[in-house]
Amino acid sequence: MSSGFTREELKAYARDKRSEYEGVLKKIVEIPSVSVEPERKGDVHRAAEYAVSLLQSFGATAKLYETKGHPIVHGRFDRDPKYPTVTVYNHLDVQPAEGPDWQTEPFVFATDGDRYLGRGTTDDKGPAMTALFGARYAYEHGAPVNIHFLWELEEEIGSPSFETAIRANAKEFSTDSVVVSDTVWVSRARPACPAGLRGLQGFRFELQTGETDQHSGTAGGAARNPVTELCALIAECVDGKTGRIKIPGFYSDVVPPSKKELEDLKKCGFTVKDFKRDHLFRSLRVNDALEVMKRIWTMPTFEVHGIAGGYQGPGVKTIIPPKATAIVSCRLVPDMDPKKIVRIVKAFVKKKNPDVVVSAEHELPAYQGKTTGPHADAIRGAMKFAFGKEPVFVREGGSIGAVLSMERVLKTPVYFLGLSLPEHGYHAPNENFDWPQAEGGMAAFADYFRRVGELKK
Ligand SMILES: [Zn+2]
Repeated sequence: MSSGFTREELKAYARDKRSEYEGVLKKIVEIPSVSVEPERKGDVHRAAEYAVSLLQSFGATAKLYETKGHPIVHGRFDRDPKYPTVTVYNHLDVQPAEGPDWQTEPFVFATDGDRYLGRGTTDDKGPAMTALFGARYAYEHGAPVNIHFLWELEEEIGSPSFETAIRANAKEFSTDSVVVSDTVWVSRARPACPAGLRGLQGFRFELQTGETDQHSGTAGGAARNPVTELCALIAECVDGKTGRIKIPGFYSDVVPPSKKELEDLKKCGFTVKDFKRDHLFRSLRVNDALEVMKRIWTMPTFEVHGIAGGYQGPGVKTIIPPKATAIVSCRLVPDMDPKKIVRIVKAFVKKKNPDVVVSAEHELPAYQGKTTGPHADAIRGAMKFAFGKEPVFVREGGSIGAVLSMERVLKTPVYFLGLSLPEHGYHAPNENFDWPQAEGGMAAFADYFRRVGELKK
């Protein structure tokens, strides 16, 4: 039987280990593991090597796996095969960091009271290190569970090698459940766990009606204008003012949020004011908080990211362009099938303007998480234990490709125990994490591991 899992004992552990935690976070933050920048490839590798040595110094066995892209790291605190195995997923690569808005050096770890500054502190190195401290505690205090770590270094570039890599090592990585710590609460006042992620289906619309620019005085009126035609087509696909998608059948598989989910959304601490401030919006399509949440988390979108074609320089150049392109994508929600969306969008465009060529790219299905069952209850219990309040289950508007890969390949459910806050600045300048989230996070993870162990295999 495990003991040592009271809130007081875990508080004492965190207090005792705070400077060790800060030292470890400093080391990993100061390795600029920017996965998108080819010249940082060596740094990304160095982060993986450091992660292996760190896991080993914590008493785990650990191994670096090369992939076609950046490596992945797998670490294990194995206790006994008769106990369940839980795998913690984090990523150790980071977004690029430059620009005048940074008030400190992004790759120099800085502290400001309880705040930790630097690229990667909240996304996702701080939560990764927090989970590691929680795991070591649970391991050393006899939690009846095997704890594995799966650390990716390509998350910020869409995990291109991840699925192949875990498939090739599926036996070594086999696990009974996965817990992902890479998500953001809605506000500090209350823990939040995503119960679903939106998917994505990208499109490119291309229309060519001529060979070269032509004079609008000599040909205008008779010549087809591809920019105008694409604008007309887009207006037939989506209502620009409301965002309502007009393609027949587009919404037919959308699962609306349940009553319980809507109740959770109402309690999650979301405000329109904060949302507008965080995103620097001057106005929104709707101003009701619940309506905004439904739109960003539980509804699909049809978004035009850019239209290219014709003259873009200063003044007026009176040409009729020969071709135009629109880059479009749809965020998808459960149970929408990306392939079906491609089919109906292509058929709709063909009917409206048969000369437009549609190509589909970047397919990622939506993810429907679980909010019931013993693991979800363990998340609830651990969050309440650590932070004093039960978490609300909300949805995330974005996508984490690795989540679907793990569910598919490892054939296990995936749960979320995120620690980041909106004010931590995911992907933004002056990214930060803080000690209260780390302290609570260590307790939450330790308690979660204990609870999962007691669920038996
Ligand atoms: Zn992340």
